[in-house]
Amino acid sequence: MSSPSAPISSSSPESSDTGGIGGHPSGLTTLFFTEMWERFSYYGMRALLMLFMVKTAAEGGLGFETKTAAAVYGTYTMSVYLLTILGGFIADNFIGARRAVLFGGIIIATGHFTMAFGSLPTFYAGLVLIALGTGLLKPNISTMVGSLYRPTDERRDAGFSIFYMGINIGAFLAPLVTGFLAQSDAWKARLTAWGMDPAHSWHWGFGAAGVGMTFGLIVYVIQRERLSHVGQAPAPEADGSRPWGKLALVAIASLALIIAMKASDQYPALVYLLFALQIVAILFFAFRPDEDSKRLGAILVFFFAAEIFWAIFEQTGSSISLFADRLTQNEIFGAKFPSSYWQSVNSVWVILLAPVFAWLWIRMGSKQPSSPMKFTLGLLFVSLSFVLMVPAAKLTATGKVGPLWLVGLFFLQTVGEMLLSPVGLSTMTKLAPQKLVGLVMGIWFLAAALGNKLAGVLAGEFKSDNPSELATFFLHQALWVAGATVVLLALVPWVKKLMGGVR
Ligand code: GLN
Repeated sequence: MSSPSAPISSSSPESSDTGGIGGHPSGLTTLFFTEMWERFSYYGMRALLMLFMVKTAAEGGLGFETKTAAAVYGTYTMSVYLLTILGGFIADNFIGARRAVLFGGIIIATGHFTMAFGSLPTFYAGLVLIALGTGLLKPNISTMVGSLYRPTDERRDAGFSIFYMGINIGAFLAPLVTGFLAQSDAWKARLTAWGMDPAHSWHWGFGAAGVGMTFGLIVYVIQRERLSHVGQAPAPEADGSRPWGKLALVAIASLALIIAMKASDQYPALVYLLFALQIVAILFFAFRPDEDSKRLGAILVFFFAAEIFWAIFEQTGSSISLFADRLTQNEIFGAKFPSSYWQSVNSVWVILLAPVFAWLWIRMGSKQPSSPMKFTLGLLFVSLSFVLMVPAAKLTATGKVGPLWLVGLFFLQTVGEMLLSPVGLSTMTKLAPQKLVGLVMGIWFLAAALGNKLAGVLAGEFKSDNPSELATFFLHQALWVAGATVVLLALVPWVKKLMGGVR
């Protein structure tokens, strides 16, 4: 697929490197596989997490109440994305993206291996390590993808689409592997035959996630030459100092935000406050005279749109998983399958659609829609996905519905995702002031953190025993997002202006 290439000297522009996947820079191939394995470890562990917590001790689990488990799960997934701000800041100001990815990967693998031991302290320590490590790795591996291209390189969005495909190959395969180790009778029988405790199977699953991350690290280290020209550590201040005070501030602010978002469980009005703050922040930056502030204003508009997008999209693991489990015939050509397999369908669509979008953007070249327009379309599609669920919900009055409804839902959501998520990554790397690129990427993932939290809040209203209320559940959210789509559409020309020359 790719040929090893010599490190690129600063005199030869990045864009001349075509040695990687599909004529992209060779570094993309390295980042593709590193992130594929990191996401394998993330989604492989996440697939087991909830189940492991609620299973009884006799089944090898922790025996948590569902409510406690859901709270741990929610705080964990939010923290993973929220800590990307800290990780971005550390890379920007201290160690550079390249080393941040290496250290992050090592911390993540350590976290998974810690969870391979069966005790409560190692369980929590593992979660904390994975959240911290992901905070270091996730935003910085994404900014490095951006650094492979010059700002005007038309291949950039396509490059991010390819990168995104790597994410989803990992996300698709992982639950199949870790789920087999943790839950299958075949593997439990194997453990018994080896004289081991079959209830320990969960920890084999967690261990497999750690092995995945280790593969990612091996790729990253072996192919480090291809990335030698990107993600360098920044030079210290003239007096040799580093911004330790600011680092402490970012760390404290991140922790405070995690605590505040947790508090929104008891005080839902905090969510409205959050929205109001975002609007104030957009206006504050957009109307300042300097270019960087205006761009930050544009970034915050994208942030708001992404947050709304993820609030619907991330219900895959909550309301949609309940719909799949309780209201869908999980059968294909007469063969039954477990409802959890639906969790892989989004990734299957990404794998099928990413090449189509990569091709489309290359094909359209400079005629492709602007990034704010792509975001608008992304919101439109995620709204349509819930419109589709309105008749599906009504049909549940006569029993379980066929699997095509969910296939359709995931198709529409994935089209939306392809228009918003890789484009968002790409746009952040273009809009961010050079010194703040890691931080801005962290802000991008903060939208995912808040969206995940909102997805939990919204899914709390899910009703599986009342078809008309269920139809209303989907319709209300669809209309809400449709409204946001119209607002964003109206803002497209303004956002384009704020972006300056960036498309
Ligand atoms: N599924 C994608 C990933 O894991 C996007 C996640 C997100 O940004 N919310 O990278």
